[in-house]
This record gives sequence, structure tokens and C-alpha cells, in this order.
Amino acid sequence: MPRAEVTAFVALGANLGEPAQALRDALASLGTTPGVRVVKASRLYRTAPLDSSGPDYINAVAEIATALCAPALLDAMQAIEQGAGRERPYRHAPRTLDLDLLLYGAGRIASPRLTVPHPRMWERAFVLVPLAEIAPALVSAVQRQAVADQVVVTADP
Ligand code: ATP
Ligand code: MG
Ligand code: MG
Repeated sequence: MPRAEVTAFVALGANLGEPAQALRDALASLGTTPGVRVVKASRLYRTAPLDSSGPDYINAVAEIATALCAPALLDAMQAIEQGAGRERPYRHAPRTLDLDLLLYGAGRIASPRLTVPHPRMWERAFVLVPLAEIAPALVSAVQRQAVADQVVVTADP
């Protein structure tokens, strides 16, 4: 019997190379990953680096339905990052593509390579604004207000 699908949310970000194209390519790659369906994707947003440096970021959030277990999903996400030329010279360095697993169903995961919900998501408007666009019930007004000082604007043409 096929494994039941889980609803998960993935944050996408990039600030090197062609960030908007990298995010579109990453969404396409997620959608062709066996066991992953892209259900919804937010618009693209532009944000100044937070915790990071370099050019402005392009960010988005996608809702997926997946038959993969969380570690296998992270493997697939990291393979897509590698395909986009991701390098990790130091923590929070500028990057061609970052894919973070925000939520995996109602799962709570604390393993050496995976913490879910993503531990810093509630501090980041570049996550909460696109997440609220596609899943408004997941972000309360109080949570949105807590990051209201961070400027996030839509980057779509
Ligand atoms: P941040 O987590 O603050 O957004 P980052 O995305 O720049 O930082 P990465 O270099 O992409 O950090 O990832 C470092 C490690 O974080 C990865 O090797 C991965 O194993 C681990 N990790 C833990 N939890 C998660 C998660 N929810 N999503 C993605 N990676 C995670
Ligand atoms: Mg990240
Ligand atoms: Mg990451």
C-alpha cells in the first residue's frame, strides 16, 4: 500500500547568481522528485540579508505533499541545493540556493541533521510572509507582528 502523503512546507532562498531563476528551477525540481508534489507556491519576495550577508535575497515558501519520510525529503532538498551549486564556506554565507524544511505535518523532529519545525522560522519575516500568503491559518497576527520591522516586498514582475 502506498505510504500516506504528508503536507510539508519548504522555504526557498537565494542571493547569489540568478536567485529568482534558481527558485523557479528548485520548485520545478521539487515537483519532479519522486514522492513529492508541489501543491502551492508563494510569490517571490525580496528581502535584505538577515543573519546573512551579500546581495538581497529572493525568498518563497512552497507547500508540498510528500510520501517521503523527513530525512529522505531533506536528502532530496540537499541534492537540489547541490545541483544549484550550493557551497557552505561558513555558517549563513551567501548562497545560490537554500531549501529548508519548515514543517513536516505535525511532526516534531530533533535529530543531529534535522530540526522540525525549523527552529528559526518564527524570527524571520522572509519565511512568515510567504508562508502566510499560502497558509494563512499557520501564522497568527501576533507572530506576523513580531517580525513586522523586517522589510519584505514582492519581487514578481
Ligand atoms: P538556517 O538553518 O539558520 O536557515 P542555513 O539554512 O544557512 O541556516 P544550512 O547550511 O542550509 O543552514 O544547513 C545546515 C544544516 O542544517 C544542514 O546540514 C541540515 O542537516 C541542518 N538542518 C537541521 N534542520 C533543518 C531543517 N529543518 N531544514 C533544513 N536543514 C536543516
Ligand atoms: Mg536557511
Ligand atoms: Mg538551509
